Amino acid sequence: MTTDPGHPAVRMYIAGQWCQGGARDTAPVVDPATEEVIGEVPLATRADLDRALEAATQGFETWRTTPVAERTAVLHRAADLIEERAPEIGRVMTREQGKPLGESTGEARRTAETLRWHADDARRAYGRIIPSAPGTVLTVRREPIGPVAAFVPWNFPVGGPNRKISSALSAGCSLVIKASEETPATAMELVRCYADAGLPPGVLNLVFGEPAEVSEHLISSPAVRLVAFTGSVPVGKLLAARAGEVMKPSLMELGGHAPVIVCADADPVRAARGAARAKWANAGQVCTSPSRFLVHESVVAEFTAEFVKAAEAVVVGDGLEEGTTMGPLANQRRLKAMERLTADAVARGATILTGGERPARPGYFFPPTVLTDVPADAELMSEEPFGPLAPLVPFRDLDEALTTANALPYGLAAYGFTDSAATAERLSAELQAGILSINHCGGSVHEAPSGGVKDSGYGREGGPEALDAYLITKRVSHLLAP
Ligand code: NAD
Repeated sequence: MTTDPGHPAVRMYIAGQWCQGGARDTAPVVDPATEEVIGEVPLATRADLDRALEAATQGFETWRTTPVAERTAVLHRAADLIEERAPEIGRVMTREQGKPLGESTGEARRTAETLRWHADDARRAYGRIIPSAPGTVLTVRREPIGPVAAFVPWNFPVGGPNRKISSALSAGCSLVIKASEETPATAMELVRCYADAGLPPGVLNLVFGEPAEVSEHLISSPAVRLVAFTGSVPVGKLLAARAGEVMKPSLMELGGHAPVIVCADADPVRAARGAARAKWANAGQVCTSPSRFLVHESVVAEFTAEFVKAAEAVVVGDGLEEGTTMGPLANQRRLKAMERLTADAVARGATILTGGERPARPGYFFPPTVLTDVPADAELMSEEPFGPLAPLVPFRDLDEALTTANALPYGLAAYGFTDSAATAERLSAELQAGILSINHCGGSVHEAPSGGVKDSGYGREGGPEALDAYLITKRVSHLLAP
């Protein structure tokens, strides 16, 4: 296997040590822009996982008893390091995941801000005192739940792991995190910032491995008190079921299939520009990416013209090249999925307005693709594309659009464009989603909660709610003079 000496050598981080583990096996790390192998990732053995669990158990005792001001200081140092190293972290991310360098470094910088926000918020994880009988003090305390097993995917190689790490550590928990084997050096560089900031050994442990084997081992371990997962709905259901069998709470951030409703009274040009910007970000590999465009028939022509124009203005290329605005897909699975979903839609009568075919060059490239006349039974209308496909569907009245939008089992993000306050209120009340944006398609913000309803999962990341999963609520009733 040829690897690139310029790419960081991937190590796991267990009990405060960088290690290759038992190195039973490794997997290649591939640059999606060139399809070249740029590194290899060690896969944990069971003994490695047991060491990580033991370390997290001890790390939890250390961390939960560390004064909150000291914990916050370590986390702020880590945030400063992430920010300082954002250009280098961004380069590593682009090589492993493909997104343009500007998106990668931007993700690293936002990650630092998210960490600061959660670290500060943890200082206010107040309990309460409840009026009770004389001589009795009735209190509610919030305490860290314990060691966390976390599993994160490849689409946000720093932001994804950091959402789990920053919330868990801010709450006083320790973690064993399995980051994606496809973007391992990026996760490693993130963890290095925490290590260099002085996080005590064992508090944060990073492993890689065969996903099903690692999750089974960690979730079954009595040491683990919470399971936190971001990824696909089928895998989320598997892990949530397994966690339930061993009576462990879980936090599930799963996929969606976000509807965008453009109403008759919206400005179609503004809506098209906003939706297009969000659609092509990270080549559409975002769980909240707009993915079903329901446009009122009176504005569909104007919307379509502007949306196609925006799609054709996207510069697809290697994320490291100046001027690229959309990189390749992160892996071959996504490329195959784009080809399959496009072919299925066309076979059922859809028309491709732009894109639709991979370019003749190495790399997992697929262009922004806009389709119209997409029938309701096309796979693309019910399967999350998780890539740069945009089906446009006209509608006649809002009831019909809301029924279509809510028809799928998912409920993560939804978007609405309207000039009417009454319609905006109706969209807010009736769209079944955990994250709703009106008149824009903005991304997640750390100060507000994100999460799904229905099959898109449960629990929230971001905002004060982010700490809820990581804290238990304990009632203490203290009789002062027995
Ligand atoms: P996948 O279902 O094979 O894997 C998704 C993630 O889960 C990966 O990181 C993978 O390593 C991990 N995983 C898989 N099986 C696991 C197991 N048994 N235990 C623990 N982790 C496990 O899908 P994929 O091909 O990587 O991505 C495709 C789909 O996943 C997309 O279509 C999208 O719906 C979803 N996805 C969602 C998000 C998100 O942010 N919600 C992120 C990435 C992928």
